[in-house]
Amino acid sequence: MPFLTRLADVARRTGYPVTEVSGWRERGHGPQPEVQGIVCHHTAGPAGGGDYPSLAVVRDGRPGLDGPLSHFGLGRSGHIYVIAAGRCWHNAPSTSDFHTNSRSLGIEAENDGSQPWPAEQLDAYRKLCAELCREFGLPASRVKAHREVNTSKPDPHSIDMDDFRAAVAALVDGQPAPGGGGAGPSWTEDIVKQLPLIRRGDDNFDVKTVRGCLFARGRVPRAAYAEVADGLEGWLNSTVYDDQLVELVREFQRSEGLDADGEVGPQTWPPLLRL
Ligand SMILES: [Zn+2]
Repeated sequence: MPFLTRLADVARRTGYPVTEVSGWRERGHGPQPEVQGIVCHHTAGPAGGGDYPSLAVVRDGRPGLDGPLSHFGLGRSGHIYVIAAGRCWHNAPSTSDFHTNSRSLGIEAENDGSQPWPAEQLDAYRKLCAELCREFGLPASRVKAHREVNTSKPDPHSIDMDDFRAAVAALVDGQPAPGGGGAGPSWTEDIVKQLPLIRRGDDNFDVKTVRGCLFARGRVPRAAYAEVADGLEGWLNSTVYDDQLVELVREFQRSEGLDADGEVGPQTWPPLLRL
């Protein structure tokens, strides 16, 4: 499956040191379907403990929420940790259509939630956002604080996001595009070429992608997971393409004007992934 395996190269363009966390190229809740936004977080990790003590949590998750939780970690020194190339559980539910888990990248910056931000960490934060905007062709306005796209979140604390975005915009405008500019990467085309056919009875990781996309599109009624162990998380994590999921896909296909065969193939993947 296509994962965003250029992320480490993008991070290195900031000039800050980059650690590629082992396994990052294959890590994710399925592939990253789209990149339409960037969500900035703080880890709410310990006040001490070195440069990036939250690494294991962001990579592996916490009770009730499987990792990876974000694509990038950002240490107190500005050191960037590349953690995942696939989709991450960092913002749900999103109040912005561009900043759902299926459509955005997450950056988890080390901070306990109240301590002052080191200057080099903030500088790296802006530069990483700027490089991601350039890579994915996004305006700086698509860089959001978690608290701006999720009403129950406070992070990242005390950063004026208008100032932050202005700085990102200046960085994006002030630097030549890598390789002399031109078209961005063709990763969406790669996704379409490599998408599997999913049928009733299948049991594999791609089924989780179908579940996640349906949920992101608002096509999963609460009743569907009301009786599942662990509720929505349990439902999203099931790798089985069962009768209930077939029916939900059929409903999605009908609403998209497609043949409602209940199979996820070349006709159904693009609207599901919004390619
Ligand atoms: Zn957050």
